[in-house]
Amino acid sequence: MDLDKLSRTTRLIRAGAKAEARLKTVSPPLQRGSTVLLPDARSLYERQDTYGRLGLSMQTALAEAIAELEGAKGARLFPSGLAASTGVLMALLKSGDDVLMVDCIYGPTRRFCDGLLKGYGIPTRYFPADAGPEAIMALAGPATRLIMLESPGSLTFEIQDIPAIAALARSRGIATAIDNTWGAGLLFDALGHGVDVSIQALTKYVGGHSDVFMGSAASNDPAILAKLDQYLRDVGVSVSPDDAYFMLRGLRTLDVRLERHGQNALAVAGWLADQPLVRRVLCPGLAGAPGHDLWKRDFKGLNGLFGVVLQPGPPAAVEAFIDALQLFGLGFSWGGFESLAIHCDPQLKYRPAKTDLGGPLVRLHVGLEDPADLIADLAQALAVYAPAR
Ligand SMILES: *Cc1c(COP(=O)(O)O)cnc(C)c1O
Repeated sequence: MDLDKLSRTTRLIRAGAKAEARLKTVSPPLQRGSTVLLPDARSLYERQDTYGRLGLSMQTALAEAIAELEGAKGARLFPSGLAASTGVLMALLKSGDDVLMVDCIYGPTRRFCDGLLKGYGIPTRYFPADAGPEAIMALAGPATRLIMLESPGSLTFEIQDIPAIAALARSRGIATAIDNTWGAGLLFDALGHGVDVSIQALTKYVGGHSDVFMGSAASNDPAILAKLDQYLRDVGVSVSPDDAYFMLRGLRTLDVRLERHGQNALAVAGWLADQPLVRRVLCPGLAGAPGHDLWKRDFKGLNGLFGVVLQPGPPAAVEAFIDALQLFGLGFSWGGFESLAIHCDPQLKYRPAKTDLGGPLVRLHVGLEDPADLIADLAQALAVYAPAR
C-alpha cells in the first residue's frame, strides 16, 4: 500500500512501523506488545504464538537462558519467585493429591499451602529439614504426588541429601521439586542431582540488583513442562518484557558476582565464627557447620547468604545489635549487590518442628562491599550487643 496516498491521520497511525533494517545489538531486541500481527487468515487459528501474553522476544530469550543455567530442556517464567513455587504446586497437583514439604521451606510458600492449596483439597504435610530419605518416604501415602524441597533452608541453612531423596522418590513414582534460589542454578545443579523441577526466585541472584521480581521453573520432563504451559496459559500470568530484559542483563554477570559474594561471605563468616559473642555460624562453606559435608559433595560454591547464632540474649538486645549495623541494610531479601541483615526468631516460631539453635538467629546477606568494612561494622554492632544482653 502506498502511504503517500493516505490521509495524514492514517499516515500517523502507520508511520515508523517498518520492521526491516534493524541494527544488530549485543542483547536481543526488546519487543513490547499485547497484539501480535499475523501474516494471514490461516495463521490466526493455526499458530500458537498469537498473543503477547504468551511471551515475545525478551521473555523467550530469558527462558532459554534460564534453561541453560539450570541444565534444563525448558524453563518457564513467573511474575515472582513465590508465583513460581505456587504455580508449580497448582500446575502439578489436583484435588485429592497430597504434598510432602520440607519444614524449612520459604515462609510464604508454606502460607499458600496451609491456606489456598488446602482449600482446594490438597493437603501439605511437613517433614524436618534433617529427615533422611527413608523417613521422608515413610510419610508418603498413595495420594502423595510431590515432594518439595529447599536446600539449604534460607533461614536455618539445613542441607538435604537431595540426590538420595530424589532417587527414592522417583523409584516410588513421586515427583520432586526444589526451591533452588540459594543455589541460583550455578551453585547447585538440581536437575543433574535428579530433581524433577528446579524453582528459583530470579529476584535474588539472577536479578542481582534488588530492583525486579521474577521466578522460574525448569525441568527436563516434557509432561511437566506441558503442565506448566497449561497453567500459565489458563491462569493468564505472564512477565513483562522490560522485567525480562533486566533479568537477562543480571544473568550475564551472575557467575562473577556469585564468586565474589562467596569469597566475601567466607571471610565474614570465618571472622564471626571466632567471636566470643557468636555461638555458631550457619554457613555451609565453613568446616564444622551443619550440612558442610553434603555441601562439599553436592554444591559448586558459596553465595553471600548465611545465618549467625548469637550467644543468648533477650529480643531487645538482638534488636539493638541489628539497629547498630550501618553498612547492612535491614530488609527481607538477598541476592543484590548490597549487604542486608534481619533477625529471624519471629519467623521461626511458625515452624511445627521447632529448631533450637541455642541463641537468637540473625541472617546476613554479604554483598559486594569490601569484607574488611563489613567486619568492622559487625564488630561495632557486637560491641553494642555485649552490654545489652
Ligand atoms: C525471595 C524468595 C522467594 C520468593 O521470591 P519473590 O520473587 O520475592 O516472590 C522464594 N524462595 C526463596 C528461598 C526466597 O528467598
